[in-house]
Amino acid sequence: MSESAYLISGLNSRPSSSKIVKCSDCGCQTQVPFKPTEGRPVYCRDCFQKHKPKDRY
Ligand SMILES: [Zn+2]
Repeated sequence: MSESAYLISGLNSRPSSSKIVKCSDCGCQTQVPFKPTEGRPVYCRDCFQKHKPKDRY
């Protein structure tokens, strides 16, 4: 759905900083527009929505 648009925008903006990573939750491959921190879980877009803290908004 909106995931492909997210990936394409990441590709267009700065390909060199985009990283293909494996989602720590569902295990799918996803692209993140930042350098993942080693030892920290990285989530795909859907799982990020599930895992992001929502205590303050
Ligand atoms: Zn996931």
